[in-house]
Amino acid sequence: MTKGTVAIVGAGLVGCVAALAFEKKGYKVLLFESRPDCRSPDQIAKYSFRSINLAVSARGIETLRFIDDKLAEKVLANVLPMHARMVHDLKGNQVSQDYGLNGEAINSIDRAYLNRLLLDEVDIKNNIKTYYNHKLVASDFEAEGGRVMLTFEHEGKPIIFEVDSLVGADGAYSTTRKHLQRNVRMNFSQDYIDHAYLELYIPPNPASVSNEDKWSISPNHLHIWPRHAFMLIALANLDGSFTSTMFAPWKCFEELDSDDKIIGFFEQNFPDALKLMGKDTILNSFHQNPRGSLVSTKCNPYNLAGKCIIIGDAAHSMVPFYGQGMNCGFEDVRVLINILEKNEFNIQQTYDEYSMTRNKDLLSIIDLSMNNYTEMRHSVVSNTYLLRKKIDGILARVFKNKWLPLYTMVSFRPDIMYSEAVRRETRQKAIVRSIVNLVQNSAIIGLVLIASRLTRSTIISKFLSKWFKR
Ligand SMILES: Cc1cc2nc3c(=O)[nH]c(=O)nc-3n(C[C@H](O)[C@H](O)[C@H](O)COP(=O)(O)OP(=O)(O)OC[C@H]3O[C@@H](n4cnc5c(N)ncnc54)[C@H](O)[C@@H]3O)c2cc1C
Repeated sequence: MTKGTVAIVGAGLVGCVAALAFEKKGYKVLLFESRPDCRSPDQIAKYSFRSINLAVSARGIETLRFIDDKLAEKVLANVLPMHARMVHDLKGNQVSQDYGLNGEAINSIDRAYLNRLLLDEVDIKNNIKTYYNHKLVASDFEAEGGRVMLTFEHEGKPIIFEVDSLVGADGAYSTTRKHLQRNVRMNFSQDYIDHAYLELYIPPNPASVSNEDKWSISPNHLHIWPRHAFMLIALANLDGSFTSTMFAPWKCFEELDSDDKIIGFFEQNFPDALKLMGKDTILNSFHQNPRGSLVSTKCNPYNLAGKCIIIGDAAHSMVPFYGQGMNCGFEDVRVLINILEKNEFNIQQTYDEYSMTRNKDLLSIIDLSMNNYTEMRHSVVSNTYLLRKKIDGILARVFKNKWLPLYTMVSFRPDIMYSEAVRRETRQKAIVRSIVNLVQNSAIIGLVLIASRLTRSTIISKFLSKWFKR
């Protein structure tokens, strides 16, 4: 006996995880994907020239473990842990900044590999049936018997399925969300930032003689070239290469409209990266790879009774600067299933409760992601930021669990929800600000006192006595 039939639209990272989680709890799952199977030879050949990676961290891993410990281990067997960011300055100097207090790491993983692995896992389950080349085009939430009728386009023809509930995991431009919006008074906002991204590539070390030296820079760092208005990042791949991404204003990309300008730009701003990539590789990437836009979407509620709910990027796409988009989407699944169990599998109650309780966390991580762009491209080299990081480190060691840097809470502590992390950080920030002000004021008063002693100035003494009377 199954608990009912759930259609999941989108066999991307979040859709696959959702399919596995619902199946585990006794549902029959129909998983629909508009594209062909990404494991088919022609798809592998089509994308073989591009290796795109992302960072999987504690929230994502916690969800994989929630589904199956062995699945989490399979994923972790193919990651490169990154314990710190490596900041590259204009002269090519590299400075390492730890991510965690105790050597914790975020993990670089090949996105395509992860999707294939999840699909392999999906294939093993008898109660999940996957339909590729099926694009959701219409949803009727008032079908007979309280069921949901879905129309998919397959090889140019419509195909209809009836299910008990629809889970939309169909990404930032979600069709499910659009269908939901026609039936629910959903608040919705979408913000494009004025910056775009372009994927670049650092080849394996050409001078490599062993497995250990196949990377030309440290594979256990997330490399950043912060240049205030724009930046470059790079994450290692298992084959010795790095996937690098340039983030910059659209205008900046538009102005780089000739090979000379592109190379000149790299010579001026990223000379060491230019050496690592090579001129031809850079030009190739600029000519072949698309510029991607960066969008944030907020909405609420996420559901229509027990008939439909959206999760992952469909519900909350965010700019990628906290490396949380997928991790948060995985967490959506864990949170949803936990509520489902708590409500003894009453789907309507579960979806309603999820919409009510999850919203504050999603808004928090969307905003944190936006703010982190300034941190990555600008603040990481500022003295104020470095001082705050030092103070945070000291206080965290003294007060243990009571004081945690924001990055630690977001990336390494899935037991602390995003909104709680923001609440704690706001309080911590206020305390640090008071400490810094106190130190600054004491330093100023100290200096003035010394000066007054040296000069025996009555004016300064008068000023000081006034200051203390205030
Ligand atoms: C440059 C960049 C770097 C990033 N780095 C990180 C990172 O380091 N860490 C991290 O956690 N996140 C990162 N992210 C975010 C992450 O990529 C997304 O959050 C994640 O892919 C969302 O997964 P999803 O399954 O919700 O959506 P998607 O991955 O978009 O999958 C949606 C699926 O639905 C299918 N689909 C769409 N419409 C239909 C339809 N009508 N019918 C049927 N199927 C449909 C699509 O084909 C697709 O397969 C990054 C994003 C970008 C842009």
